[in-house]
Amino acid sequence: METVKTLIIGSGPAGYTAAIYLSRANLQPILYEGLQPGGQLTTTTQIENYPGFANGIDANELMSAMRQQAENLGTVIRSGMITRVDLSQRPFRIEVDGEWKIEADSLIVATGATAKYLGLPSELHYRGQGVSACATCDGFFYRKRDVAVVGGGDTACEEATYLASLCRKVYMIVRKPFLRASKAMQQRVFDTPNIEVLFEHNTVEVLGDESGVTGVRVRHTNGEERTIDLAGFFLAIGHHPNTDLFDGQLALDDEGYIRVEPGTSKTSVEGVFAAGDVKDPHYRQAIAAAGSGCVAALDCERFLRQ
Ligand code: NDP
Repeated sequence: METVKTLIIGSGPAGYTAAIYLSRANLQPILYEGLQPGGQLTTTTQIENYPGFANGIDANELMSAMRQQAENLGTVIRSGMITRVDLSQRPFRIEVDGEWKIEADSLIVATGATAKYLGLPSELHYRGQGVSACATCDGFFYRKRDVAVVGGGDTACEEATYLASLCRKVYMIVRKPFLRASKAMQQRVFDTPNIEVLFEHNTVEVLGDESGVTGVRVRHTNGEERTIDLAGFFLAIGHHPNTDLFDGQLALDDEGYIRVEPGTSKTSVEGVFAAGDVKDPHYRQAIAAAGSGCVAALDCERFLRQ
């Protein structure tokens, strides 16, 4: 069993920032990247609201730079999956890829959140065959074709405008009579001629054949149904936190987000700290996640030096 002072789970802005701070504090953190190295930001395109980049920065470039910075300062970055944790006593025990491998004096949880799906059987059936929750990853496959994006938040608007630059036509399927997104994002959508917003519409069924998605059946709140021919169906309806590992071990809120002591990163277990989207149902911004990674590292450092 390997013994470490501090283990970080997650490789988004929260995890890397915590790693940068803990490395500089000479605490030799080990960071496990998980299934999506770089976290959710790697599924987006240009970031214009991360301070320090006057003309914006490519999201993947930003995450690579954070990773490199953490590594340069001494963080050991590994690619295994944490499959179980035992937080009942210290040192905490950590199972990696199905094997109990690590004992950690402290833990920083920065496992982020994952995209939600509608839960329709047809949506599940065509997942990966035209149904996607990541326009940046999969938009390329639908160049010059018609696609739909479900949702009316900032993510949906961002994905729709991105897809509009590749596809012939983008439908936004929005269940309310308005968009929830920020005014700037809404304006971008309304200014894009090949986006059509279908307000007050819900998805009834994703249609397809052996080649994948061929369309979608939608219903207006007045009961009228129509079928739209499509090649791609994108979900942008929010996220749920990646906290399955901690169920029953850390206090979670009703939606599964980790509860922290207000103004800190301290969870219900002493020595376990949470950072980023995994504890943040409200702000969910890269800069907020990075800031909370810093807070978690400082809380963790103080805890270890006690
Ligand atoms: P949001 O929760 O803000 O929006 C989710 C959208 O999906 C809403 O329009 C919601 O509808 C809709 N929705 C939810 N469930 C369903 C369902 N079952 N069927 C149909 N529609 C559904 O999530 P986002 O991912 O858009 O944003 C999360 C956070 O991240 C926000 O704070 C946002 O501001 C931020 N963000 C910021 C960006 C930026 O600044 N560049 C980019 C992306 C996100 P309804 O409104 O009816 O609830």
